[in-house]
Amino acid sequence: MRLTATELSPAERALKQEVREWLDERLPEGSYPLGLGMGGAVDPEFSRDLGAQGWIGMSLPSEYGGHGRTAVDRLVVVEELLARGAPVGYHWIADRQFGPGIAANGTEWQKETFLPGIASGEYSFSIGMSEPDSGSDLASVRTRAEQVDGGWRINGTKIWTTGAYTATHIVALLRTSEDRHRGMTQFIIDRHTPGLTVSPIEFIDGTKDFCELSFVDVFVPDDRRLGEVGAGWSQNTGELALERGGVDRWMSVMALLDRWVRQEAQRPGGHAAELGALTARAWAFRGMSLAVARMVDAGQYPVTEAALIKEMATRFEQDCTDLMVRRWGRTPRPDSDDPYERLLATAVQVAPAWTIRGGTNEILRSVISKGLRKNA
Ligand SMILES: Cc1cc2nc3c(=O)[nH]c(=O)nc-3n(C[C@H](O)[C@H](O)[C@H](O)COP(=O)(O)OP(=O)(O)OC[C@H]3O[C@@H](n4cnc5c(N)ncnc54)[C@H](O)[C@@H]3O)c2cc1C
Repeated sequence: MRLTATELSPAERALKQEVREWLDERLPEGSYPLGLGMGGAVDPEFSRDLGAQGWIGMSLPSEYGGHGRTAVDRLVVVEELLARGAPVGYHWIADRQFGPGIAANGTEWQKETFLPGIASGEYSFSIGMSEPDSGSDLASVRTRAEQVDGGWRINGTKIWTTGAYTATHIVALLRTSEDRHRGMTQFIIDRHTPGLTVSPIEFIDGTKDFCELSFVDVFVPDDRRLGEVGAGWSQNTGELALERGGVDRWMSVMALLDRWVRQEAQRPGGHAAELGALTARAWAFRGMSLAVARMVDAGQYPVTEAALIKEMATRFEQDCTDLMVRRWGRTPRPDSDDPYERLLATAVQVAPAWTIRGGTNEILRSVISKGLRKNA
């Protein structure tokens, strides 16, 4: 494992400034519902505006509507968005992983069909991996795609599919043969395909982002197969590097933290030691995410490094939440007039999920130890 220290270049810093200025105009404080990092509100209009700025699908090739920029440029943009708790929920997954996934593994037709809509913020994608009996042991997925005339017939159930209710597409990891790892294939499925029922599951904070997907004889043409038959597991593993190593894994509470720090700075004495400790950890994660983005730009798949970031950074997010709650002075109220207090109340409810979604910490530790052993 190697995470090489790196800094932003002058051009990358200039991009940061440009994004800040645009967000000051587009999202003045109080004009939007504050969100917890990548769990920000679903706002298709904001996603389209961001797309029009060229800040979605940044690293996608320009011939397919992208901007031929780097993973580091994307990091610069999303860092600014997450720091403000911006409404990124609609386009987040398409931008983070399925745009790059389709660019890497898709056919010419798929690139022409899906990438422009991803880059413009029109398309919203969900991840269809987990099933009622397959979470950590993802290789046990049972939802089956059976080859039929002209395409595939799908039967089974996916669960915990975040954002599926408002998504335009779902990328599903499906079983196409009995071989445990080589028997899985990815498919790009339109959310409104006949036979696919999307049912929201209410989350602890009252939101209905979580969904269960029921597939009953769903027909999908072969042109929706993403990559070779049997390549789903390895494609999925590559995507997990994008899913786990980004700034989204340590910035869920950044808008809250920023507000708290500004308040503390005005109080003599304050909690300087605690703030200093958190800042040091946040800065280390920032450096690690930046190093991972540079590796992605160099054409590498930093799976172990990304797992390490997620394992450590999601615990950091939980620690920040605990500390802010302890220092808030009372139990944060979900019905408070203060939007930051409401957000902290939500954070208390959903923080346990941060070390589960995208792979639990126990599983990540196993990925890290295997990766370290392989490279020892
Ligand atoms: C907020 C949130 C959003 C999510 N969004 C999505 C999504 O969009 N798409 C999607 O496909 N999935 C999504 N998930 C599902 C998520 O990926 C799974 O919940 C996760 O992988 C764990 O699987 P499981 O829930 O089946 O738990 P299990 O796999 O049953 O695990 C239960 C417990 O056993 C432990 N455990 C299991 N196996 C081992 C082992 N070998 N060694 C040590 N400990 C082990 C786990 O760490 C965990 O603590 C989401 C989950 C959450 C909480």
